[in-house]
Amino acid sequence: MITNNRLTGDQYAVNFADIHPPFETHDAALVEADRCLFCYDAPCMKMCPTSINIPKFIKQISTENIKGSATTIFSSNIFGAGCGKVCPVEKLCEGACVYNLMDEEAIPIAKLQRYATERAIHDKWPLFKRKPSTGKKVAIIGAGPAGLSCAHVLSREGIDVTIYEKESKGGGLMTYGIAAYKVTPEFCNDEVEYILSIGGIRVKYNRELGKNVSLEKLQSKYDAVYLGMGVGLTRTLAIKGEELEGVVDAIDFIYQLRDKGFSSVPVGDKVAVIGLGMTAIDAATQAKRLGASEVSIVYRRTHAEMPCTQHELDIALLDGCKINWLSAPKEILGKRGKVTGLVCSVMELGKPDASERRSPVETNETFTIEVDMVIKATGQIPFVDLVMQNGLENDKGKVRISDNGRTNLAKVFAGGDCVNGGKEVVDAVQAGKDGARGILEFLGIPASNVEPTYNASTVSPQKGNLPDIKLLRL
Ligand code: SF4
Repeated sequence: MITNNRLTGDQYAVNFADIHPPFETHDAALVEADRCLFCYDAPCMKMCPTSINIPKFIKQISTENIKGSATTIFSSNIFGAGCGKVCPVEKLCEGACVYNLMDEEAIPIAKLQRYATERAIHDKWPLFKRKPSTGKKVAIIGAGPAGLSCAHVLSREGIDVTIYEKESKGGGLMTYGIAAYKVTPEFCNDEVEYILSIGGIRVKYNRELGKNVSLEKLQSKYDAVYLGMGVGLTRTLAIKGEELEGVVDAIDFIYQLRDKGFSSVPVGDKVAVIGLGMTAIDAATQAKRLGASEVSIVYRRTHAEMPCTQHELDIALLDGCKINWLSAPKEILGKRGKVTGLVCSVMELGKPDASERRSPVETNETFTIEVDMVIKATGQIPFVDLVMQNGLENDKGKVRISDNGRTNLAKVFAGGDCVNGGKEVVDAVQAGKDGARGILEFLGIPASNVEPTYNASTVSPQKGNLPDIKLLRL
């Protein structure tokens, strides 16, 4: 049966507590900071999509310069605190740390990053000063990581920014699309407030492009427009039974959980989650933490091809989720309009496809999982109609941009998920910086505050490490 309020308030509090607790003492942070070798040409830094100067901010912590450390981080990534919680660091900075080569624990870069930035947000340190107004005005669609990152860089340069956000809160994916045990709604609110505290950025909430905001009007009213509207809901499965009560979209499920609170969100007793990306893991683990007795993840390839990291998979396994490898949904069964089961095809791997992963091929075998809820998490689709209606050149709904972030429309720039189809928060932050650089260049204003981009592809991540995980008590 699908129902809400399965657990007590205390149980929700335990299940959704921060999965990565911060350093308990200042000395504990110093001990880790002092282990850093401050490598020349640091590989950790090259693996950061926002090029945070990692050895520098760690050195600043070890010399007790916490304000300097937070400034170093935020200069490259204004979402540095949130990224310290949600980045897949085992395949980015921490995965590249030289300690991996010595078979020792990597420096806990994310935890140190949080150590400096959370203090800055908590104590409201005014680390950035906005330059005097240039009189130039820029409109941004979306107060997510790309939009706010773009806005912060522009505001620092004296641009007056207006953001049009369709939700009632800022933060985008960080606020509405990530497991609450990684980032709490309160944290997201504080982070957005901190970013906006620089001034010069006005956010108009509940304003949506194509509904109550027109791109044409923005083009005539502002000196430039930046599109950072992200992507939409999950693609459909196109199988029988998808219309049954109990089939839900993972994005919507996570949104409801974050927007309404844990006890208000209905969850099944036996849940199947289709897909194995980060969103699928977040949906599966949260279904379990909301009180589902069984959660089965259905993935059509093998461990070698999975899109989530090993760290994410370990969280799901530790939460008691079962993984069905080489399984694809074939039909959703129902009774009186409600989900009762999921029929899966047993797959085998064929030749590599366009993504260079081996394609799953159906065998003649099937199996059935008894479930009362199916959560679809098979990748998000771009806002195709919106993009087409506005005459934006695109690739299957993904907005096409040139090197400096410009679209085919006059004065219009774009970046983040609406361009790349959906990547990590940290990629969206960098896209916002790139967009701001393109806009500043277009407006003839020197971009003094935008850090150069490093080429992460020149460094290969080494063996990842597994940060300490607080286990769900089952
Ligand atoms: Fe420090 Fe590791 Fe980066 Fe070297 S690779 S600078 S040891 S965090």
